[in-house]
Amino acid sequence: MNAPRDAKVSAPIADLDSDHPIGEFAEGARLVGTRCNACGTTMLGNRVVCSTCVSTDVARVALPATGSLYSFTRLHVGGDGVRPLGYVDLDGVEVRTLADLDESNGPVQLDGAVRLVVTGDAWAFAPIASN
Ligand SMILES: [Zn+2]
Repeated sequence: MNAPRDAKVSAPIADLDSDHPIGEFAEGARLVGTRCNACGTTMLGNRVVCSTCVSTDVARVALPATGSLYSFTRLHVGGDGVRPLGYVDLDGVEVRTLADLDESNGPVQLDGAVRLVVTGDAWAFAPIASN
């Protein structure tokens, strides 16, 4: 018995406009996300299919520029100094992303509020001053 093997999601897809994680939106430079119109899931990155319900009814969206720091570490590798890296839970959506952290204006702290900082092609999250 031969079952069909060509599922809709395995078909080749057209090249995406860009696979860079940062896109330009009306709000400014933001992490690129995808929102599923069928189930409401918001995902990181530019997707053509929902990773929850496999719907192709998805739209490109700007992800929130703020979030809270779930966890972080400071890498001490090579001669480039310390590289802070952490997981950020974005505000208002169920999206957690691994990101570089910018501590040039002060150290990050667990559960601390952070904001996306974009400089050219580089991006990171920096702590939001609490005062
Ligand atoms: Zn969905």
